[in-house]
Amino acid sequence: MEKVIIVGSGCAGLTAAIYAARSNLSPLVLEGSHPGGQLATTTLVENFPGFPEGIDGPQLIMNMHMQAEKFGARFAYSEVTDFEPKEDRIRIKADDEWLETRTLIVASGASARWLGLENEEKLIGHGLTSCATCDGAFYRNVPVCVVGGGDSAAEEALFLTRFASKVYLIHRRDRLRASKIMADRVTNCEQIEPIWNTVVTQYIADERGEMTAVKLRDVNTLEERLLDVACVFVAIGHDPNTKAFQGKLETDPDGYLLVRHLAESKHPGVFIAGDVADRVYKQAITAAGSGCAAAMEAERYLSALEH
Ligand code: NAP
Repeated sequence: MEKVIIVGSGCAGLTAAIYAARSNLSPLVLEGSHPGGQLATTTLVENFPGFPEGIDGPQLIMNMHMQAEKFGARFAYSEVTDFEPKEDRIRIKADDEWLETRTLIVASGASARWLGLENEEKLIGHGLTSCATCDGAFYRNVPVCVVGGGDSAAEEALFLTRFASKVYLIHRRDRLRASKIMADRVTNCEQIEPIWNTVVTQYIADERGEMTAVKLRDVNTLEERLLDVACVFVAIGHDPNTKAFQGKLETDPDGYLLVRHLAESKHPGVFIAGDVADRVYKQAITAAGSGCAAAMEAERYLSALEH
């Protein structure tokens, strides 16, 4: 019987692990298929307090991992597939094994959203990706495009200017959703050409199945045209990772887990942290804060059980 199992090893899960480990609870962190969460595939993080020069996302995550491990957190790469809350314990299926724990912290984060166009799955890794940090360097001196208008799209577009000959930023409106500082950097960058009021309607691949172009539609005039690009970077937001908890934990209409009070879910002993429940802020620091709260609530819950 574990005292604390943490699902997810992004900023929220690792912060929860640091706090739970420092409370001598020896938490078990189930890292899943994307260890480190979204920060592991991002570039420079400039807004995490304490790093005036910024810090690389993967480095920040690695530091948190080491910090949690130093205090006794344990890690497993298992993927959680099922969950059964019982009165006095929680059962959780990790890969093929059922584990039992007194408390569970769900910090499973969110995954990149895709456009839902034909052949999308086949093209992932063949000129279609959601991670500029991972794949940007493969596209040197060729034109690429980024789809989206938020901070992620802005960040990806700026990062890609290091490699690509030209970066088109395709956004469905005429104004970026990104924060002003990021939007200004994008609009002031000569290598980035925004294409406003436009959506991608088709991916076009060659006979080897590699992306060569996209079909674009102007949402006002409905005019269509082709744009030659060697890679499409999709950055249109994220969906919460709740598959294992569907129908068992409360969600809002978009699938984000509902937190009742502080980090509590509707089941005693189950706590929630990070982007899996955050449709508003979605920042590394807010994820870290909620991970801290979840671990403190779990610790209080365990203390109350003992007395
Ligand atoms: P986001 O802020 O939700 O932006 C998503 C963008 O994609 C929006 O511009 C949206 O258009 C567009 N979009 C959504 N669905 C679309 C579709 N089906 N087709 C075409 N376009 C679509 O997501 P995000 O950029 O991933 O950012 C998420 C959060 O992380 C935000 O809170 C952001 O501030 C934060 N973040 C911060 C940083 C940073 O501070 N450096 C970096 C990355 C992310 P509309 O604008 O028309 O809705």
